[in-house]
Parts: sequence; C-alpha cells; structure tokens
Amino acid sequence: MDLGIRFFAIKEDFIMPITDTKRYKRSKQRERILEILKKTNTHPTADWIYNHLKKEYPKLSLGNVYRNLNILVNQGLVHELSFGSTFDHYDAHTEEHYHFICQSCGAILDLEMPYIGADDRKVEKMTGAKVHFHRTEFYGICKKCLDKNQ
Ligand code: ZN
Ligand code: MN
Repeated sequence: MDLGIRFFAIKEDFIMPITDTKRYKRSKQRERILEILKKTNTHPTADWIYNHLKKEYPKLSLGNVYRNLNILVNQGLVHELSFGSTFDHYDAHTEEHYHFICQSCGAILDLEMPYIGADDRKVEKMTGAKVHFHRTEFYGICKKCLDKNQ
C-alpha cells in the first residue's frame, strides 16, 4: 500500500532532541559561525562559511567548520538542509518553514507561509507514528533566473 509518504534520509542527530549544551566547550569560532548564519537568509554551505571566516581566523580549516556546524546542529541551533544536492546547506532560522529551491541557480528561498502542524497529526493518525516535523520543498526556476532568460 502506498501511503504517499516519502522517507527522507535524515541524519540521526537531526531528529534526536539533544538538550545538553554543556557537553561542548564554548568556542569563539562556533559563536561566529552561528552569528553569520543568523544574519543571512541564503542557507550557505560549510564551504561558503569557511571562505567567509578564513581571513578572520587564518588557522581555521574546513574540517573545523564542519565540526562546529555539527555541534550547532546537535544543539538544535542550526538546521541542516539536504535537498539531494552535493553539499548540505545550513539554516539558523530553526522554526519550521518551507523552502523554494531554484533548479537553475540553486538558490534556496524561505517561504512566508504557515507551517501546517495539522498535517503532522494527520500522518500520526495514518501511521501510528510520532511525527516531529515535516519538510516541504518547492522546486522550480526562481524569478531572477526567469528574468535573465527573457
Ligand atoms: Zn535561480
Ligand atoms: Mn530557511
């Protein structure tokens, strides 16, 4: 029977509500990464963040950025977005919201439309499962790309 449900490969640590922030030593770099993510709505990759911070922290490595991002994800401060693209994107805007993904330029746009929590309850009824959240992505060509090709 097809319930029309697509299962996403969501990393385990994304789902686990992790509450102990004490496990991690405070880190200036990690605070900067969070600050940068909070200031942007472009959903950057680890690579982008690394390039952005390289000048400020000459000893910083890409591995370092990934490690800090993983901690932020574990702390629930950042969401990891994988839309089947090669690289994960990061979002410090952690209230559930929907995205539009441009299939031409890869832009990821936040959509200002309400998250439908009722759907989570509907799926719980259908499956007997406990739903934590759902993700909806809209794919197409963004306005910028459309205008460029006019
Ligand atoms: Zn585009
Ligand atoms: Mn977003």
